[in-house]
Amino acid sequence: MNIIKFQTKITNHEKILIDDCIKTSSFSLCGFLSDKFLIDITDDSDIVSSFERDWSNMPGNADFLARPINEKQCAIILYICNLLNINVTISAGRTNLTGSATPKGGLVLSIINIKKPNTQVDIENKTAKTSVGTILEDMRNDILQLSNKKLYYPVDPTSRKDALVGGTISCNASGFIPGDKGATRHWVNRLKILLTNGYITNITRGDYITNDAKFILICDDKKIIVEAPSYHRPKIKNASGPFTAAEEELDFIDLIIGSEGVFALIIDVEFNLADSPKDFLDLFITLPSENDAIKLRGYLKQQNILYQLNALEYFGYNCQNYMEHKEKLFKTESSVGIYLQYPIFNNSIDEVIEKWVQLLDDSDCGIKDDNVFLLNTADNWRIFFEARHSMPVKALEKTKELDAISIITDTIVPYKNFNDFIQFSHRILRENNIEYLLFGHLGDCHLHFHVIYNKEEALIINDLYRQIIRKSAELDGVYSAEHGTGKRKTIDFYECYGQEAINQVQKCKLAFDPKNILNTGNIITIKDI
Ligand SMILES: Cc1cc2nc3c(=O)[nH]c(=O)nc-3n(C[C@H](O)[C@H](O)[C@H](O)COP(=O)(O)OP(=O)(O)OC[C@H]3O[C@@H](n4cnc5c(N)ncnc54)[C@H](O)[C@@H]3O)c2cc1C
Repeated sequence: MNIIKFQTKITNHEKILIDDCIKTSSFSLCGFLSDKFLIDITDDSDIVSSFERDWSNMPGNADFLARPINEKQCAIILYICNLLNINVTISAGRTNLTGSATPKGGLVLSIINIKKPNTQVDIENKTAKTSVGTILEDMRNDILQLSNKKLYYPVDPTSRKDALVGGTISCNASGFIPGDKGATRHWVNRLKILLTNGYITNITRGDYITNDAKFILICDDKKIIVEAPSYHRPKIKNASGPFTAAEEELDFIDLIIGSEGVFALIIDVEFNLADSPKDFLDLFITLPSENDAIKLRGYLKQQNILYQLNALEYFGYNCQNYMEHKEKLFKTESSVGIYLQYPIFNNSIDEVIEKWVQLLDDSDCGIKDDNVFLLNTADNWRIFFEARHSMPVKALEKTKELDAISIITDTIVPYKNFNDFIQFSHRILRENNIEYLLFGHLGDCHLHFHVIYNKEEALIINDLYRQIIRKSAELDGVYSAEHGTGKRKTIDFYECYGQEAINQVQKCKLAFDPKNILNTGNIITIKDI
């Protein structure tokens, strides 16, 4: 079925009150929303300004900051901003790297206080419900605790201690697990969403599927026809632009997940959960070269082990120089590293270690026994986690010191083109003497080139970045596997998918949000409506 019914969250009485008040000469948005609806809202520039930047470090500006605590308050805010043509930027943990939570005027709607209901686990059905303001890592820990460690939520982006659940759904955040299971989308079973007109509904996976590439939203007597975009999105790990109804029908829930908040505000969620393994084998392995690391990935795929892994992470060129604890993990300056995690369900850890020693020997990737570091102690694990986390953090800090905008490629290409792509990118960066480091998700052929540059190098960096983006599209890949488009990468979206795709997203967006007030400027720029 493609017909989705919404219910209004705003009563007629409230509509009349709002209509009357906004017409009065003494109307003040802050005064009205705090007095009549007890909404935490301010126009104090000192407070608002702390929400004007996210981790992308792009400059933003806003007039108001509202921190609603429930769906009713969210509905009132969206409804009144829609009436008054005030842009609304949804803000969660603000850890995105694309400026997707950077406001361009108007009101910042922060979801940090939407924390009720608390996380609940249904052990029998292997699901968890939670609110969008919950910190992802808190939810993951609560699930373990509430299920007596029987179930877990597997998506583990490095930013999980700061990102909120709503932000991760909206960006389709992904973690270490290779393949579909590594991304948020795979685990979302139900969402509650709110439109800018104050109407709300629950959507469960499988319930609403496009018919002739269309959805019909019913808001009382209003019928909204949403034409799903239909541009071709490569079927790889992919966070570039909203899901489409290109080759097959589209589930409405998939249109919302990963859409960077341009269609609707997500209020709460039900995730499917995975059975917790009895244990994990965690290894940090050093190898002589990048080629050996890529060869190991190919070998594990060939042995049908790649998609059993919970992680296959790569620490390549120049990473050691940005890493805490490098002396504990690497023996030589030139070697590269791989972290892998293998879940153990039935066997003993000793049996699994034996199996892996054999596998690594057979791989013929230059791995010696004393280059394998077992992370199965709390201390070793902490060392590794801090090392992994410290790299992007230190690189971003250095970028801030240089007062530049961070550039981290998020490109991905299919395995068959991976080597060509990596060699091309290394070559053009080295030819121009640019400092960078290379790390990321080897299991998905998704590595980040993190470019460190100063202001004088900005023009050349921009040119090199564009070359890398074009190359990824040329090699059947996309510019973003996990970070999305935001405001920074709208040109990348255009270069990857073309003007027709922009037209399709615009049409879809304006069906949901005819005044273009919600997360304006994310994914595409809409000029005239
Ligand atoms: C050090 C570091 C490491 C990172 N590692 C990873 C990683 O491993 N994997 C990965 O995928 N990403 C990673 N990221 C990027 C980022 O953490 C993710 O994109 C994350 O999902 C953003 O969540 P957030 O809560 O911070 O959202 P925000 O940055 O606040 O917002 C992101 C987008 O979601 C929208 N949004 C937020 N809440 C809602 C809602 N309730 N309804 C509708 N729209 C909403 C916002 O408007 C915005 O468009 C990393 C970032 C940093 C800084």
